[in-house]
Amino acid sequence: MTAGTETVAGLFQAAYDADPGGFWRAPGRVNLIGEHTDYNDGFVLPFAIDRATTVALSPRDDDRIRLISTFDDRVVESDLTAVDRRQFSGWSAYPLGVAWAIGERHPDARRRGFDLAVDSDVPVGAGLSSSAAIEMAVAVAVNDVWGLGLDRAELARIGQRAENIAVGAPTGIMDQSASVFGERDAAVFLDCRSLAVEQVPLGFDAAGLVLLVIDTKVEHQHATGGYRDRREACERGAAALGVGALRDLTVDDLPRAEQLLDDVTYRRVKHVVTEDARVLQSVAALKAGDLNRFGRLMDASHVSMRDDFEISVPQLDVVVETAQAAGAIGARMTGGGFGGCAIALLPAGEAEALAARVLRVFADRGWHEPVPFTVSPSDGARAL
Ligand code: ADP
Ligand code: MG
Repeated sequence: MTAGTETVAGLFQAAYDADPGGFWRAPGRVNLIGEHTDYNDGFVLPFAIDRATTVALSPRDDDRIRLISTFDDRVVESDLTAVDRRQFSGWSAYPLGVAWAIGERHPDARRRGFDLAVDSDVPVGAGLSSSAAIEMAVAVAVNDVWGLGLDRAELARIGQRAENIAVGAPTGIMDQSASVFGERDAAVFLDCRSLAVEQVPLGFDAAGLVLLVIDTKVEHQHATGGYRDRREACERGAAALGVGALRDLTVDDLPRAEQLLDDVTYRRVKHVVTEDARVLQSVAALKAGDLNRFGRLMDASHVSMRDDFEISVPQLDVVVETAQAAGAIGARMTGGGFGGCAIALLPAGEAEALAARVLRVFADRGWHEPVPFTVSPSDGARAL
């Protein structure tokens, strides 16, 4: 048995009184740079992390589906007919949504029932995409046992479709792409228009650097309204400038944008246009092995989100300032904003001291205790 499969194997055995047919695993992700660029047809640069969802699965000869997760103490029962009527709720919408999306996109695929057990060490709701991890773990598993032969790009689309329609969350394809295309020591450079993917070596280890994530534990209170508002501003800006998406603009278009748009819309557009440029510059810097330059781009990305896109909160700003003062080569908030996590790239030997300092600074201000942990770029979804 592969390390880390004991829990899920035990869960499977206890629920179904049988050994599972196999194990599959898919990681969560962190976004290095490229925020709010996905729905503007732009660029993102996430990596798959060393925290993942593991599933144990056995195909069945009938249409029945049984699911259990360490999140829940009871078995969820369903079948393919219910799935195709989109009858699902709660956490099972993620795995069942994948089965539904495969049926929708591949009506000729020969689907059958299955027994599934799920375990995960991706923190939920921390912005590390536990949702894509469970979707992609199930997708690679059923792709194997149903003999579908779907490629990774298609599995990512199936996960996105499940999340958009079965779960009802209007998300882009970044999370699923990072989870399936991740590679050890590499980031996933994704063009959200063409969906072209390129793995970019990071070399953090060789440079003696680690990526520290600090979960501020600030709930994304304004996340839904704020997200919608930012999206609308981007659409407004693109329409006023006569382009299909902000991706079609470059920094050379910004003076014209400033003349045409009101101040707020202009600053929203400016963030997206400069952020796309920063992702491209980051990829070039990483390919050249210039991690210091990449760090400065992370810093600039944070300033842009704080001042132009206005999606940061004081806790995120304080983490970033504390990290920079402590010698991080780059730091920024990551994710949709209004709370969630910040990341800092810094020498491995200094991560613990920075984590301790952030805890002290938050305690001094009477803020909720943040949760710091390091993540490393890891392999994407796979059979074990
Ligand atoms: P995140 O930022 O972690 O992706 P989401 O709200 O998008 O947060 O997804 C979290 C949801 O995904 C959980 O509330 C749960 O419904 C589902 N989920 C994630 N991991 C698991 C798991 N191991 N078992 C069951 N459900 C899970
Ligand atoms: Mg999610």
